[in-house]
Amino acid sequence: MTLALFTIPCLADNYAFVLHNTVTDDCALVDAPEIAPIEAFLDRHSLTLTDILITHHHYDHVEGVEYFHNRFGARVIGAAADSHRLPRLHVEVAEGDRLTICGEDCTVIDVSGHTIGHIAFHFPQSRYAFTADSLMAMGCGRLFEGTPDQMWQSLLKLRALPSDTIICSGHEYTAGNAKFALTIEPENPDLVARVADITAARTEGRPTVPSLLSLEIATNPFLRADLAQVKAAVGMENASDTAVFAEIRARKDRF
Ligand code: ZN
Ligand code: FE
Repeated sequence: MTLALFTIPCLADNYAFVLHNTVTDDCALVDAPEIAPIEAFLDRHSLTLTDILITHHHYDHVEGVEYFHNRFGARVIGAAADSHRLPRLHVEVAEGDRLTICGEDCTVIDVSGHTIGHIAFHFPQSRYAFTADSLMAMGCGRLFEGTPDQMWQSLLKLRALPSDTIICSGHEYTAGNAKFALTIEPENPDLVARVADITAARTEGRPTVPSLLSLEIATNPFLRADLAQVKAAVGMENASDTAVFAEIRARKDRF
């Protein structure tokens, strides 16, 4: 059995995620960008939150945490390193910690880069990874606090997960990311095919998140900075992986 996963659009382009164990009725929320759409979803499905998982401190990920804790008494789980700037935590976690959420094993991965203290939650049994603003669909988060090397190391950890992992990232940025990805690898056939799929999905108003890790590995330029063809594409054949990643990230910032 795998946990049921629901993707809830919030604010202009954020996603919250709800996990539900249909046997025990345990229910977890990953990030709380906005109260109203999440509450409407929970009420419509008569769900009661048992856990709230926080990926990082930005307001568009924590805005509703206190409200939902107060309403449901749910445990709030987030990075120990960030406890000073997160809503009050009941469980403080760090790299490698293991939790049981909705009856399933969950491993914490430190994915600092976008912020220091950004964490991802991996559910190996259901194959979900909640990556928020670290690894995103065809992109990665902007480096507000970390260095390029920190983000690259974080992305390598995520890339090493089983390739059938379902990447649940925090924003609907995929169409813009796709345009940028094409400037790096215009002739990557997997990328060209994915851009067509993305365009169709967005035209029909469908989310492009979550996405499969195997597809990210094939098309996401930020996961491909160590490939010879990508180094050549940015004119950095002999540069380090980190330097190439930094160059691609810098180009995206200017894009
Ligand atoms: Zn963020
Ligand atoms: Fe965000």
